[in-house]
Amino acid sequence: MRFEDQRELLVKDLAKSGITDQRVLAAFSKVPREAYVLPQYADYAYRNQPLPIEHAQTISQPLMIAIMLQYMELQETDTVLEIGTGSGYQSALLAELAQEVCSIERLEELSLKAQGTLREQGYKNIHFRIGDGAQGWQKAFPPFTEFDKIVVSAAASEIPLRLQEQLKEGGILVIPVGQGPYQVLSKVQRKADGFEITQHGGCTFVPLITQ
Ligand code: SAH
Repeated sequence: MRFEDQRELLVKDLAKSGITDQRVLAAFSKVPREAYVLPQYADYAYRNQPLPIEHAQTISQPLMIAIMLQYMELQETDTVLEIGTGSGYQSALLAELAQEVCSIERLEELSLKAQGTLREQGYKNIHFRIGDGAQGWQKAFPPFTEFDKIVVSAAASEIPLRLQEQLKEGGILVIPVGQGPYQVLSKVQRKADGFEITQHGGCTFVPLITQ
């Protein structure tokens, strides 16, 4: 089956699995996942499962990404911070859904490869930094100090304070929290008088490795 047809089947599967945000579904219809997986896994690009990438990391499961993007309530005008660039697949989806995307990856080799793929795919609204994402976006261009939305694609033992601080009032942070193989998907919303934290079911991510 052609990749385009497989992609449409995946989008139908996401819709059946509870993804109702039409902009999120449209982004999945547009971004070719086969460009981000390792060549030997191209035939599996549209299976709704995580796949291995270099350095024992993974490209996340499409449904898990869709759930996180839906919780983020992304707007066209949003400035977004992503922790864990990985393959760059989720960065591309974010770039379709928001105005500017800043993405941090600790492994230089993965970041450089993702930067190349995303450049080939024509994205100009994604900015990269190599380093520890738990420290937030700093010493990097553009010099943003706050974000409308933040998403972490690796499991944190606790919610990094620096990321909470970089959330605008009304902003949303989505992050898997927990130690060990299973974590809880958590949503942090910054209100005028503090942070509201809600939990949204189990998930499995590679660990966030902080300094
Ligand atoms: N959304 C990505 C997921 C990649 S897996 C994709 O679909 O491809 C998570 C990534 O987080 C890995 O590449 C890992 O190297 C990275 N990571 C782990 N700890 C990190 C940290 N402290 N700062 C930045 N990136 C980190």
